[in-house]
Amino acid sequence: MERIRFWEFSVARTLTKSNEHFRRAVQRMPLGVASNFRYWGDEKTIYVKSGRGGRITDLDDNVYVDYRLGYGPAILGYAHAEVDAAARAGMEMGGVFALATEMELKVADRISRMVPSAELVRFSNSGTEAVMAALRLARAYTGKDDYILLEGGYHGLFDAVMWHAPMHLWNQVGDPEIAPYSEGVPVSSRSHAYFVQANDANALEEVMKRHADKIACLLIEPIMGNCLGIAAEHEYVRAARELCDKYGILFIMDDVKSGFRVARGGVQELYGVQADLCTFAKAVANGYPISLLAGREEIMRKLGQGVAHGGTYTAHPVSLAAADKTLEILEETDALDRVAVYGQALRDGMSAILGARGIAHSFVGHPSMSGLYFATEPPRAYRDWKSSDYSFYNAMAQHLHDEGVLCEPDSREPWFICAAHDDSCLADTLRGFEIAVDATLRDGAGTARKASA
Ligand code: PMP
Repeated sequence: MERIRFWEFSVARTLTKSNEHFRRAVQRMPLGVASNFRYWGDEKTIYVKSGRGGRITDLDDNVYVDYRLGYGPAILGYAHAEVDAAARAGMEMGGVFALATEMELKVADRISRMVPSAELVRFSNSGTEAVMAALRLARAYTGKDDYILLEGGYHGLFDAVMWHAPMHLWNQVGDPEIAPYSEGVPVSSRSHAYFVQANDANALEEVMKRHADKIACLLIEPIMGNCLGIAAEHEYVRAARELCDKYGILFIMDDVKSGFRVARGGVQELYGVQADLCTFAKAVANGYPISLLAGREEIMRKLGQGVAHGGTYTAHPVSLAAADKTLEILEETDALDRVAVYGQALRDGMSAILGARGIAHSFVGHPSMSGLYFATEPPRAYRDWKSSDYSFYNAMAQHLHDEGVLCEPDSREPWFICAAHDDSCLADTLRGFEIAVDATLRDGAGTARKASA
């Protein structure tokens, strides 16, 4: 029997209940939400009722195939029966004790097996916390304060890394200005950071050569999960490793978004290059809050021997139990292979639709977290995004939402795939994508440059 698809019954999307809820929520909560990134406009903010597999349902019963997946965590899909059962069992322990439990070692052992450089492991609650700890540890170990970041990288919401190149303001002449992400970030927190472009090993060496005596670490996302998924080239990552060794600088790989997604052992396995320290969150526990800092024993042993680390909720039994089950599934099944296969099929399907209309496009990064980029040549660095037709993407995203395909409204966020995305998700997505592309062309949005023109 043929599957019945949700959209056969769907009428034009309305957000009546979400909008009503927004008007109440905004009375009590800034922007009516718990994270600035979740506010999409007074009339466009979505409130979720539930998530199952690769789809979510909003308050108005609109169903979406979800490619945001909470910015990546739901690697196995929402409401995963085995992970949720493990989390419930974790709850049976009774809470948090400000004491250790046996489960910590079990999960740390598995991580150490899966991740190349993870000789020792510490848990935290969020990506931000793990990266903060990594930076502090690198500074303590090297006795130096400065660090190098990539333009387009994102490492969480703490002052030291809340500096970026606001590319939309850049006039494509000279270097973009470096500005804080937010008001309230002290100017003094900028003074320790150097910025380089991705995939330019010469520029990286220039900075290291000049400032090696002050630089503690290179802190990068080899796959920029907040910037189209732009991937560092293999030679660049290898060169970065060698340069770090040459200049006495630690290499921190921030695998918060890409870890346990692009490969079982994250970017280190994918590139065959080991970090000194690495950070993970998102996919670790399929959405339960947990993050981790791992790395070389000699460095990690400084935790507790001069370097502070802790937190009331670290290694919460519920999250740990969910992590144990999620990582077991990722390590022992073909879940990540299926994720990559789906991601490639999605790219192929979108490419056929765009190609048939002569729209210049390319895909960026790993198929499990693809950036869709409106220019023929994929970007090698964040600056390249400026010359893509991102206004076409932004207009198309609105139509996609109306068609039940949920991507981030901002073109810089990749499309995340989970193991629960199935053939019906793919068919619904491509059907919606075709409609959305045609609607965007009709609107006359962007320049929609012809691939062959
Ligand atoms: N590092 C990277 C690479 C991230 O993508 C993020 C979040 N998107 C963070 C750190 C911060 O993680 P969190 O939001 O859990 O604090």
